Amino acid sequence: MPVALICMSAVLLFVCILAASAFVGMAFSLKRERNRFDSLADSAFDYRLVWNEDLSHVSFSEDLKKLLENCGITPNADYVRSVFSEKSSGENNGISLCVNALKKNGVVSRYDAPHGKEGYIRWKSISANGKIYSFGSDLGDSMTGVGSEIVSEFDYMRTAVANAEAGPFAIITEGESARIETNASMCEILGFSDKENIPLEKLYSIVKKDELLEVQRKINCFASGVTDSLYVEASLKTSSGTYHIFTIECRLNKDATDFRRLRTGMIFDTTANRIHREAAFDSGNIDAITGIYTRSGFMSKGEDLLEQCRKKGTPAVMICLQVVRLRNISMLFGIEVSDTLSKLYAETMLRLTDEKAVLGKMGFSDYAMLLEYGDKAEVEKLLKGIGIMIENCCNNETLPSVLREQIGFTAGACFFDGADDVGTLYNKASVTLFSGSESQGDVCRYFDAEVEKKVSGRDIVEHEIGEALRQGELELYYQPKIDIKTGEMVGAEALMRWNHKTQGLIMPGQFISVAEEMGIITKIDEWGMLQACIQSRMWREKGYPDVRISVNMSQAQLYQTDVVESVKNALEQSGIPASCLEVELTETMAIIDIDRTVSVLNALKKLGVSISMDDFGTGYSSLSSLKILPIDVLKIDRSLVYDIETNETARCIAKAIIEMGKALKLTVLAEGVETEEQRAILEELGCDIAQGFLYSKPKPAALIEREFLIPKANRNAETKV
Ligand code: C2E
Ligand code: MG
Ligand code: MG
Repeated sequence: MPVALICMSAVLLFVCILAASAFVGMAFSLKRERNRFDSLADSAFDYRLVWNEDLSHVSFSEDLKKLLENCGITPNADYVRSVFSEKSSGENNGISLCVNALKKNGVVSRYDAPHGKEGYIRWKSISANGKIYSFGSDLGDSMTGVGSEIVSEFDYMRTAVANAEAGPFAIITEGESARIETNASMCEILGFSDKENIPLEKLYSIVKKDELLEVQRKINCFASGVTDSLYVEASLKTSSGTYHIFTIECRLNKDATDFRRLRTGMIFDTTANRIHREAAFDSGNIDAITGIYTRSGFMSKGEDLLEQCRKKGTPAVMICLQVVRLRNISMLFGIEVSDTLSKLYAETMLRLTDEKAVLGKMGFSDYAMLLEYGDKAEVEKLLKGIGIMIENCCNNETLPSVLREQIGFTAGACFFDGADDVGTLYNKASVTLFSGSESQGDVCRYFDAEVEKKVSGRDIVEHEIGEALRQGELELYYQPKIDIKTGEMVGAEALMRWNHKTQGLIMPGQFISVAEEMGIITKIDEWGMLQACIQSRMWREKGYPDVRISVNMSQAQLYQTDVVESVKNALEQSGIPASCLEVELTETMAIIDIDRTVSVLNALKKLGVSISMDDFGTGYSSLSSLKILPIDVLKIDRSLVYDIETNETARCIAKAIIEMGKALKLTVLAEGVETEEQRAILEELGCDIAQGFLYSKPKPAALIEREFLIPKANRNAETKV
């Protein structure tokens, strides 16, 4: 029998035992280590088979597949059954297959190689995670090596593991003391003189200082029996004087009779892996424009930072920044300008934070920073710095001058309390952005109990808005539109309300944007449109003069392919003439795809529906869009009306809008008219219609009917008198 073959099989057997213990340990360690194990196993064995008891899952390594196909054998469950069935008893059920496979000496199977030759494979199996892992060593055409005992294992073992930058690792405890064992090549790498009697302290003396506590904690827990397995990554100083990253994985062999085999496993030099992994990670997780992490990169790197903070007990803060009006800027000036701005923000954040900070671009205009920061004063200082730097940068020639006053950010922050993960912290920090009135520049809002209350409110909305429609909890309120001269009601705007069973009345500001994010706004708007049309018909049937009801259209609904169809349906189902319906949309949403908007609005106008431009004066208020879009009514935003009595600029803008509207032959309506003075000024400026609390708040249909509608018959009578 060739000596090489004996040695080979001995080595394979030993590697098998080591790999097996390492593998079982790995069953509960991280998945990413599995590939490393597979390649180690592949370098030690010729073939690999993974299967389960009922053979519903069988997988073959590539080399085994090739061999079997060469021999005309199909690599399937039948092959596994033929290898591991008990030949003498003929027993063939799943359990007997497993029992047979796991026998100490394993199983030898035969294959018929081409050209009339035969070959043998010796299979050693282990069981882990409900599967059987069988490793096969090709014995060629000789069976002589089978059953022989381990011979001169260590010489071969040393070469094998040295090539794999790995070594066996055992922790041996005797009373209070613990020592470790590894092989000679690993001792050489780590600068240990004795491979069998290494005190744990010696290992600890080469661990990088800031990792020492954690390494000690994990090894002590394992050595003292608190844990059944050990997985630890540590930077160890090697004999060459440089630090390498090693992974130590061990498990408790409960069946071991020899105490030296009680806590065994492997030690790997994973530096190269880590570098490779990090490079691969960075290449897929860095935002190409800004050079900071993408959302997924941020989540992963942020978790690493939080873990360090947890270990060291240091404070950390999550800050999210939202660049205001970035989408508007992008639409107005082009994506290149918004990219330049994004870069500017990222560069500023990078410059003002240290290298430990994790920075991420979380969305189109959202950034996140995770920092080891202590208190609010430090955070405020940082944000102030960012604000000043951005302002300074914008004062140079890189950006169009009109942008300067547009640029700014809002910030929200949440301090790390040791418990939250990155996702939770980010969510908490970002909800503060929406939790109060708009703040800008260096002002930062912090996550606290009050915000938490609001968040839970948002939670309710998220969970229940879908049901609200089905449960009939949504209702339309109506707000009259009044002829500014005669005081007569000429129409009404339908405004959505949610009668929540426990929260009471919820305003659209609290649920419309959530419904938009959740993608159910179109359903809600379709329902609203039909309800408004039905209300109009009911008022007609009761003999009131036609009331043109306006309905707010969301961006999602406007860009829905069948939007015209759904408006047509609402008109048909309710049976009202199209002249009784008006659709309100904002300029911001209209210009996202202006060609499409023009074609939708033209189709709606063809039906006979009126179009009104809502919140005019808050977006770009551009003449060109007014010229292109086929609209009938211009609604001046409330923000231009509320201080029209005292603010000269507001009055000038309102005047310009009214004149512009008149020139374009549009009806001009002012929103949010609350006082008689405002009404009078607007009338003087030539405004046609007013809507606001001066006349009425939005109210249920029945109240509007009672307060504002006069049946046609009575009206005629009144005029006659
Ligand atoms: P909008 O379309 O601009 O509606 C006008 C808002 O101004 C309404 O708020 C109204 O109650 C309020 N308002 C009217 N007059 C006055 C006033 O004199 N003073 C003050 N302070 N406020 C006044 P509301 O009902 O809370 O609606 C807010 C926004 O929610 C609406 O703004 C609209 O954009 C959206 N919305 C409401 N209903 C719907 C709907 O069914 N679908 C969609 N997509 N959006 C809706
Ligand atoms: Mg509106
Ligand atoms: Mg409005």
